[in-house]
Order: sequence, then C-alpha cells, then structure tokens
Amino acid sequence: MIIRKKTEAAFNVIIIGAGPAGISAAYELCKKGTKKKILMVEAGKQYIQRFCLNDLQKSCHGCGGICNTISGFGGCVVYGDGLKISNLPSGQRLRDLYGARKLKRLSKKALQLFNDVVRIPTTFSGSNLPQKVEQVFKLQNIRIKKYPVSVVKESHLKRFIKYMYQYLGERIEILFETEMISLRREHRKGLFIVTTRSKSGTSKYFAQKVILAMGRKGTTCLNKMIKSLNIHTEHNDPSIGVRFEMSSKWLKKIGNLHPDFKASYTNKEGLKAKSFCFCGGNNGGRLRMARYYDSFSTPIVLLDGHITSERKDKERLLAGNFAVLTKLENTKRKKNLAKMIDKYMHLFSGHPIIQPLTSFHNKTQVNEDDDAWIKQLPFKPTLNALKTGSLHLLFEKEQHAIIIELFKRIMKSILILEKAKMEYNNFEKEVLVAGPEIEFIWSKVSLNSYGESSCPGLYIIGDAAGYAQGMIQSMIMGIGAAEHANK
Ligand SMILES: Cc1cc2nc3c(=O)[nH]c(=O)nc-3n(C[C@H](O)[C@H](O)[C@H](O)COP(=O)(O)OP(=O)(O)OC[C@H]3O[C@@H](n4cnc5c(N)ncnc54)[C@H](O)[C@@H]3O)c2cc1C
Repeated sequence: MIIRKKTEAAFNVIIIGAGPAGISAAYELCKKGTKKKILMVEAGKQYIQRFCLNDLQKSCHGCGGICNTISGFGGCVVYGDGLKISNLPSGQRLRDLYGARKLKRLSKKALQLFNDVVRIPTTFSGSNLPQKVEQVFKLQNIRIKKYPVSVVKESHLKRFIKYMYQYLGERIEILFETEMISLRREHRKGLFIVTTRSKSGTSKYFAQKVILAMGRKGTTCLNKMIKSLNIHTEHNDPSIGVRFEMSSKWLKKIGNLHPDFKASYTNKEGLKAKSFCFCGGNNGGRLRMARYYDSFSTPIVLLDGHITSERKDKERLLAGNFAVLTKLENTKRKKNLAKMIDKYMHLFSGHPIIQPLTSFHNKTQVNEDDDAWIKQLPFKPTLNALKTGSLHLLFEKEQHAIIIELFKRIMKSILILEKAKMEYNNFEKEVLVAGPEIEFIWSKVSLNSYGESSCPGLYIIGDAAGYAQGMIQSMIMGIGAAEHANK
C-alpha cells in the first residue's frame, strides 16, 4: 500500500474500485508506458491480506471483514475461489451499448489479457448440448440458454490477481483501505474533485477524468453521486431467490456440459424463474456470505455461490449448488424489494438462513435449535455457521411456488439423465435451501459507447453500470472506457 504524505494532489485519471473493471481500465491506461498520472482508490484490503475463514476450517459469520466477497477485488475474483467466464454471444446489453463489432473486439482484448497473464488458453463449453439432454429438459417445459463458458481454476485466478497488482503497483498509485466518499465537478476548471476517507483521515484529489468501477459494494454511494451529478439512469428489475445445495454428484454431468447452466420456466400466469450461477462440474462449488451493508444502506448479509475446481474433501461428498431466482417486475418492483428486505431484517436480522428443502417446499415451520437434519445430509454443507430457520416466510405465495416449480423440473430432468433410481420426493430430503439471494440491484446508467456518462469525463463501468454482471464483462467495460479516456 502506498502511504501518501500529501493529502491533495492532481491526476489525469482517477479510478475508483480495484475489481476486474477498475484494474482492466488501469492496465489499458498504462500498458503503453503512459506519462499520465493515474490513481486507483480501493476501499478493501490488498489481496494478500485476504483469506477465507472456511478455508481455515473456521466458521464464517458474514461479518464482512477482510474477506468480504464484494469489497477489495470484489465478487468472484475473491482470492481463493474459481470462476466461470462466459463468452459472446452472451451479453445482449453490452451488444446494445457497444454494437456487435466493437463488443467482439473488446471481448477479444479482455480474454487475451486474461490468457496472456494466466498462460493457459481458456476452453469453452456450453454452446452445444447433446440432443438427448435438451429433449429431457424440453419435456419439463424448460428453456436452456446456450453460450460458451469456461471454468478458471483457483490457482489460475490467483496468478492473474497477483500479476495485475504487481504490474499496476509499479506504474500507478494505488490506495487500499481508502474509500471515496464524495465526487464533485468543479465547473470553472473542468476538474473532478474526489474526496476519500481512510484511517489517516480525509483527502482530496483532483482529476481531469474519473472512472467509477465500484461494483456491488458501491451501489448506494454511486446512486448518491449519480443524483448529485444529474446523471440519467433506468431501473433494472432485481431478482430474488434461494440457493439449493446438494451432493455434487447430481450437478457433475450438467455442470461439465454447461458450466453456467441457465434454465428458465414460465408458468401459466406469466411468472418466470431462472437458474443462476450454477456451481457444479467435477468439483462442485460452495456458498459464501457477503456483507451488503453498503449496497442496500441497511445491515444485511446475503448469500452467493462460487464454483470450485481445486477443493479437496476426502471425508464426505463434495457439495454443489445453484440459485433459482424470480424477477420483481412491474412498477411495484422497488416497493416489493423493500418489503422483502424489511421482512428479512425483522425475521432473521438480515442474516442468511438454511432450511431443509422438504420444509421449505411444504412451508412448515422448523425448530431453530434443531440442526440434526444437517448431519443426515449426504454431503458436507459448505457454510458451517448458518442457522436453521423458516426461510420460506420471506417469499410471497407466487414467488415461492415458481422457485419450487423450476427447481423440481430441473432436478427431475437431472434424475432422469443420471438414470437415478430415486424418486424426486425422496431426493428432496437430501437438499439444503439457503438464502436469500438478491441479484441485479443496479440501476442502468445511460452511457455512450465509450462508457462515458452524460457528465463528460466521467465513466461508469462494471457491475455498477447495470449492463452486465461477470468478470470478463466488467473487464470489457474497463478496457472500453480506458481506450477513450487515454485520448
Ligand atoms: C459470490 C460471487 C460469485 C461470482 N461468480 C462469478 C463467476 O463465476 N463468473 C463471473 O464472471 N462473475 C462472477 N461474479 C460476478 C463478478 O464477481 C462481478 O461481475 C465482478 O467482480 C464485477 O467487477 P467490478 O470491477 O465491476 O466490481 P467489483 O469486483 O465488485 O469491484 C468493485 C470494487 O470497488 C470497491 N469500492 C466500492 N465502493 C468504493 C468506494 N466508495 N471507494 C473505493 N472503492 C470502492 C470495492 O471494494 C470493490 O473491490 C460473482 C459475484 C459474486 C458476488
């Protein structure tokens, strides 16, 4: 970490957030030996100071400490998990933003950067599925989204993070554990004024251009800035749901065929559910808690899933998981989300809960002190500190029904494909439900095809921009903005 003696300084470009979007922007800005002065500000700790308590056989309580999944090289790029990379033609919104040709070029550049550093070519699957597999899902009225996905191992991702930090650390100024708290535009001189806060106090920095890459953690802060700078946004429809954890054997085959298996189902009333962030394949996945305090301005912790490819567990079967989400559509979406979050705070103090699937399905109350059912599961749950509770209470009747319906249809298909002797009803006894999970919370910011907002010189990229979620997608936006800011 760089300790600055001066608390005021001027830069050509300031980047806020050192996730995949921010670091790719920084890399693109300085890769040709630029003489530009660049500052990157990151609220979280450096990657070398981050570790996962679960990896150390300790309990994770979602405290949001040094490991917080959404802070300090956020999301999937947390030091210690694998990730799925999805490639074109996935990403309709980015195509709308950049146009097909430019998106293809940026996407190639982002993947090239990743491959050059990792030194292992990415191999994709998921575009084609055996006809028999498609037919089985079709019989359950399930639609499958096919696109190329690659699984990156934990050790390869570590290599990428290490290299990028080293490369950038030698070329630009990086401030860790420093949070941007305000952004203003000084109209007379046409400069941006960035105010930051760290343990050593507040500082002010000036820049001609600012790139905001604040991801999930920065949602509330970004929304405030967008308002004060009069930047136009459109609402996204958030999705809510739960994660299903089970023995990894059930998700192995499908996870290998399509590592980000996306299945959706629409009921007669037009309500839709989809599977999200499939963590299957040979080595399954794990659940992680992340503190979303700064994203909802309320102290909630949520669950997310990670794919793993180097997890060792000799004693019990590995676990796999995937989420099923349903969209909060229509004009009441904001109200509906607020209602659910209120319930979550009230019933569970904003902390994730687990429940046996049979009880979640039948909406039966569970005894909070009873964790005997966990010991009966034929796999080792990946989070060992979650409390049992009546998770079903968080969902409206229709939401609950569609979540269960899609899960049932996916798993019935998988049981057929696996030629399992087990009936679906019996299989339910082997599944743990954890939640809640909330996704797509960001408003979509109106941007030009360089990622520049209606405030000239201010770029908004990555998850925070509301166009796409995903590591390569964020890198694409980072490179796109930097190419323009470099001019
Ligand atoms: C558990 C989980 C699993 C995922 N798995 C996958 C996967 O397998 N494949 C995939 O492609 N994607 C995955 N994703 C999504 C992916 O992680 C994100 O799309 C990606 O990290 C977004 O990059 P970003 O740079 O926009 O934001 P982030 O990675 O969230 O980075 C933003 C950074 O900004 C910092 N920040 C925020 N506010 C401020 C502030 N005010 N001042 C200073 N710094 C600030 C944060 O600390 C953070 O480090 C996953 C996400 C999660 C949460």
